Amino acid sequence: MGCHDVRPLLPARVEELSPLEARIRAEHVAGCPRCAAEAAAYNRLVYALAAMASLEAEPVDGTLERALAVLDRRRALMTDPRLAMFAAGSAGALVATLVVAHALRQRRRAPRDTGPIRGLMIPAPAFARAK
Ligand SMILES: [Zn+2]
Repeated sequence: MGCHDVRPLLPARVEELSPLEARIRAEHVAGCPRCAAEAAAYNRLVYALAAMASLEAEPVDGTLERALAVLDRRRALMTDPRLAMFAAGSAGALVATLVVAHALRQRRRAPRDTGPIRGLMIPAPAFARAK
């Protein structure tokens, strides 16, 4: 199994995988630093989302832009392509965390809005039909 085959399994939580899929992922990640870094980034994202979804305070305007600027500067300093790739993955995870956390807060503030989470490109046909 190569990275291409294992990549779709990386974002899933262990309980969402079949025993075979979980074993395939674990064996590949054990020997592939690139996929291990990606799996770790997804793990951090899940924990960060769980924490941020419970926050009441809204991040001040520009938080996302400042975080991206810092990450871009760090990435520019990196000459090792593996580190740069890792930073890119972390930046993506951070952006996704901020976007989803913001969307979750927006949704919580408007309880009558039962549509898909705003800001996410995930189609939710079940929601659309239920209206
Ligand atoms: Zn791999």
